[in-house]
Amino acid sequence: MRFFIIGFGQAGGKILDLFLGREKESGSNITIKPLAVNTARTDLMGLKYVPKECRLLIGQTVVKGHGVGTDNKLGAKIARDEIDTILNAIDKMGTHDIDAFLIIAGLGGGTGSGGSPVLAKYLSETYSEPVYAVGVLPAPEEGKLYSLNAARSMISLLKYVDNLILVDNGAWKFEGMSLRESFAKINEEIVKRLALLARAGEPVEEESIGEMVVDSSEVINTLRGGGISSIGYATTLVEEKKRGFSLFRRKNVDEFAENDKATKIASLVRRAALGRLTIPCNIRSAERALVLVAGPPEHLDRKGLEKAKLWLEEQIAGVEVRAGDYPTRRTKHVAALVVLANVTDVPRVKQLQRLAAEAKEEIESVEKERIEKTLEIFDEDIEPLI
Ligand code: GDP
Repeated sequence: MRFFIIGFGQAGGKILDLFLGREKESGSNITIKPLAVNTARTDLMGLKYVPKECRLLIGQTVVKGHGVGTDNKLGAKIARDEIDTILNAIDKMGTHDIDAFLIIAGLGGGTGSGGSPVLAKYLSETYSEPVYAVGVLPAPEEGKLYSLNAARSMISLLKYVDNLILVDNGAWKFEGMSLRESFAKINEEIVKRLALLARAGEPVEEESIGEMVVDSSEVINTLRGGGISSIGYATTLVEEKKRGFSLFRRKNVDEFAENDKATKIASLVRRAALGRLTIPCNIRSAERALVLVAGPPEHLDRKGLEKAKLWLEEQIAGVEVRAGDYPTRRTKHVAALVVLANVTDVPRVKQLQRLAAEAKEEIESVEKERIEKTLEIFDEDIEPLI
């Protein structure tokens, strides 16, 4: 799956940068086109792996490179005013060899929260490739303004994207760490999942072909429909194969090992689907699912994958489950990714909307009170000068 990834704003840029860094470290052969867009110069300067020519500073005449703070309406306005500059930058990098666009942004802030729905709108109007977004939701402790920003951004994004993959900072905050300290670890978790998704249908290594291949069109089919998705992930360290052989009952030993392998794959997928999801949701409300398993070829197993697929079909609301594997010798782990597509029972989204409605009401009533009180101060009958 060849992605054109746009990291919008600080969080989006950092996640994109980490993605590129991890791919570089692993000697990856997959295609990713990166673009970091921001209104804050220092955020762009802080990136390590996004090439300089793939960084775009917008809104210079308005905010002079200092960012928009948490004003996502300003973030949206700047993106709208400079949409041609953004689209030109994307066009210049070439889009003929990509399968989909992926916008990554923190939805509680200003630049990414406001800018990403605008970009999603224009990308979907300009290109035939699907447009996805990874939206990072604020933790409740960040306050109501962040919730209001995220709720507005989310509603706007859902109008234009082919799928919105949500990540909940609140659910991912690590024990004993502050939210800021958790960011680096949360970003690692996001990147691991995206890296596996990006491997679907990509050229495999060393001529080893997966037993069940999912190509990019199957990822696109899973994510179609414009809903919200959540991703599960689990890994296990594989044991080195012991050399040597037994003269007796070789066939039985092999059969046992095969069954064991199948059970291990099936339970890994189950662990991914039932463990911590990028956004907690009711798995039974998912319309479709996609399973990807990657690892050393001798530890992958078609029967196991088929078992996992049947199990998932029973779990989700719909019947479409796609599954594939990706053999790689670059790791000693087997990893399973489960995309739960178009989920409808997502308590955090409901809660966020409630918080946002409260915040909107509070802001409006404070403003009304302020106007009334200000008028009261000046209630003497004095004519203004002009
Ligand atoms: P922008 O630069 O104006 O788009 O604002 P940010 O990208 O900083 O968005 C703010 C929101 O993103 C807040 O809800 C933060 O909790 C979250 N955020 C900021 N940086 C990170 C990060 O590195 N990782 C994660 N997971 N969330 C972040």
